[in-house]
Amino acid sequence: MLPPPEPKLPQPDLFVDGAFAPAADGARRAILCPATGRTLLEVAEGDHTDVDRAVAAARAAFDHGPWPRTTPRERAALLERVAGLLERDRDRIAQLETLDTGKTLAESGDDVAQVADVFRYFAALIRVDGGQVNRAEGAVLSITLARPAGVVALITPWNYPLLQASWKVAPALAAGCTFVLKPSELTPLTTLALAELLAEAGLPAGVANVVTGAGAAVGAPLVEDPRVDMVSFTGGLATGRRIAAAAAQRAAKVALELGGKNPNIVLADADVALAADHALEAVFFHAGQVCSAGSRLLVATEVHDELVERLAARIARIRLGVGWDPATEMGPLIGAEHLAKVEGYVSMAQEEGATLRLGGGRPSGEAFANGCFLEPTLLLDLPPEGRVAREEIFGPVLTVERVRDLDEAIARADATDTGLAAAVWTRDLATALSAAERLRFGTVWWNDFHPYFPEAPWGGFKTSGVGRELGRSGLREFQEEQHVYLNGRPGRSDAFGRGNA
Ligand code: NAD
Repeated sequence: MLPPPEPKLPQPDLFVDGAFAPAADGARRAILCPATGRTLLEVAEGDHTDVDRAVAAARAAFDHGPWPRTTPRERAALLERVAGLLERDRDRIAQLETLDTGKTLAESGDDVAQVADVFRYFAALIRVDGGQVNRAEGAVLSITLARPAGVVALITPWNYPLLQASWKVAPALAAGCTFVLKPSELTPLTTLALAELLAEAGLPAGVANVVTGAGAAVGAPLVEDPRVDMVSFTGGLATGRRIAAAAAQRAAKVALELGGKNPNIVLADADVALAADHALEAVFFHAGQVCSAGSRLLVATEVHDELVERLAARIARIRLGVGWDPATEMGPLIGAEHLAKVEGYVSMAQEEGATLRLGGGRPSGEAFANGCFLEPTLLLDLPPEGRVAREEIFGPVLTVERVRDLDEAIARADATDTGLAAAVWTRDLATALSAAERLRFGTVWWNDFHPYFPEAPWGGFKTSGVGRELGRSGLREFQEEQHVYLNGRPGRSDAFGRGNA
């Protein structure tokens, strides 16, 4: 096995009020590399005391500090500086992300480049976010202005730690908010590195705070804190429901990005070779640990066998390994518990009647002995009425179902509670447009899978989420609209008190 890279590690402490400091009780958590099982760093393990301090700092920075009172141009300049620092440190941050999450260095490098682009996008957007005129009638002017939402709690998952953080941090800062960010307890390294860069870029103390630690000990008190105006969460449905319920108790604003069961539909007139290429990318990227993973292939009977043969031939050649080896195409899963959960779905699919065509086991050999590796897996003839056809697997498992036509594919796709992303492969634009109209999913791709970018909104229908990230809507989440009514020539009012004097 190639020896792992040794990037400069981030400060292993909480970042509160502009300074790194240990947790109040001194607790630490070992952060493990999923490819080797080795400890990468012992990171401060916060609890409600640390949350209390961080929220106080964010509240003071919002109520009395300079940040919410800066001009959009000043905020844009800071975001641009952060983008430049991310580009400067791209290699180091990509290595940290690969060590922490297991994904390949190529994927991590792309993540960092996209994160820099997200900062640049919101820098540009805030400069043109000039509000709106509702009425201009004589001396009366009615305008809508966007004000910062306030102190925001940002809670992120382990699969795209830096990328998901950037979808929240960049628009929150652009809007003039202050925040407390809680990364996943499994993958805090790049979030801590981002805190270092925000400080280096000159962000005033207290605007950005990072509290590392567990969901129950850090996330829950953060969401319940009455000084927090809004919660933006990305993660699983069960946690999302808990967070929405806690926020509802105090009528706080909430945005949720949750899981998906994303259909990849291949129709009879599709370019089968292209559909096969992209079906692989759709599901095996980051070992399937992607909210929009195209794990559910719905294939028209006419092209089913050809597509399956093409997939099987390629899947058999996927190179598993550590993410820092340039030959590796797919890395490990995040941890032992998650590996067992994904294996459970592979067994369940077979119990439900699917046929295991390839994979499903743990690879053998010394290189895989201490990591959480699972072979890329292909399951055929998955029954649509079972659990596996409806639940998110979040692993390198591709299930295939035969369908008669678009109508049947859409009926099956719609029979889940989720609605994050879907794709349709056909040569006919009219069919694609009709599919997009009928698929209740936040993103629909035609003849492609996975493209997303800062200009376009990202989010889900049904239980896949509430609200949108990226795009103009991604900025709006962190703003409160304010109607300002200006009357330059006020007249007298005689609505009341007209009785005889
Ligand atoms: P998770 O829900 O277990 O954890 C997400 C975050 O919530 C973590 O930081 C965790 O510590 C925190 N948390 C846990 N309990 C909490 C509580 N009671 N209060 C507050 N915070 C709490 O999710 P995960 O396993 O880290 O991530 C995987 C899930 O995320 C998948 O379902 C995936 O689809 C989803 N996801 C969605 C998107 C999207 O854009 N829709 C993107 C990435 C991941």
